[in-house]
Amino acid sequence: MKEIYTLADLKDWEKTTHDVDPPIRLGVIGDPVAHSLSPQMQNAALSACKIDMQYARFQISSAELCEVLSLVRKLDFIGVNLTVPHKIAALDHVDDVDPDARRIGAVNTISFAGKTARGFNTDGRGFSRAIRDEFSVDLRDLRVLVLGAGGAGRAIAMQCAKENCERLVIANRTFEKGEQLADKLRNFFTGPKVVGPVPRLQAIRWEESACRFQVANADLIVNATPVGLNRGDASPIPAQVLAPHLMVYDTVYSSERTAFVSAALEAGARAANGLSMLLHQGALALEIWFQREAPIDVMRKTLL
Ligand code: NAP
Repeated sequence: MKEIYTLADLKDWEKTTHDVDPPIRLGVIGDPVAHSLSPQMQNAALSACKIDMQYARFQISSAELCEVLSLVRKLDFIGVNLTVPHKIAALDHVDDVDPDARRIGAVNTISFAGKTARGFNTDGRGFSRAIRDEFSVDLRDLRVLVLGAGGAGRAIAMQCAKENCERLVIANRTFEKGEQLADKLRNFFTGPKVVGPVPRLQAIRWEESACRFQVANADLIVNATPVGLNRGDASPIPAQVLAPHLMVYDTVYSSERTAFVSAALEAGARAANGLSMLLHQGALALEIWFQREAPIDVMRKTLL
């Protein structure tokens, strides 16, 4: 099997994969996609479940997405995952969208079962399971500050709202996008939870002074921006603004400590990176494709 496949490979699939056994019937589509850890995790799961197929990486541009989704469907793929930059565009290329994905406005998993392309989003539920795994707490008991209002930020904020978290604050570089997200979630926060003299739902500006004020009224801070993906990126919130009572979750993952995780540890807080979210969103995708429980321990081992 090749490390990465392209549109040209899919157009000549029989020839390109004549010596690939078991056959490729699943994959992750992105641009870039070389860094994706999903193939190692999903292939270990497929093998443990004795499902005779493989999962591959596909380097596909935005202009190619439509053709690729139609090709993989014709080639009897079971499903695909979508990553940057395809999650929003994919909404327009499926026959049916799961209500969660529709609310979030992004699709990260497609199932082609029964000749229907159905779009799902497993990021929010994956995040919730990751928080329980990492910190042994449930979102409903937390005051959460989410940094970012893109695909991941929306999925995470929506999940916090659905699980009726104590308090939700959204900080986004483009303030208006954070505000729009908060407006969309307003109906979830009309209940009587008592959290002191601060609003239960709020969008704030991406500024140190605004974040500093919120830290005292938050339990969990989540980085849902790509800040930290590049070596040398500064922490989205500096260590001196963080505090020991916090849990810090960086959706960015890497083998080295991310700047946000380092800053949290320096401040005496607990911290985790996005590998656990990757694990759980992938396990949920596998459950959608095969309607069976995912071998979570096997999958986790491939990410250690
Ligand atoms: P996206 O839709 O492109 O959204 C990016 C968000 O980050 C936007 O809110 C954007 O703000 C903000 N942003 C971008 N650059 C920034 C900067 N330099 N400073 C401050 N804010 C910045 O991307 P996405 O799909 O949400 O993914 C975001 C990150 O989440 C990814 O890079 C990935 O690391 C992580 N992720 C992890 C998992 C996992 O399983 N662990 C799953 C999904 C995503 P504006 O609105 O101002 O542009």
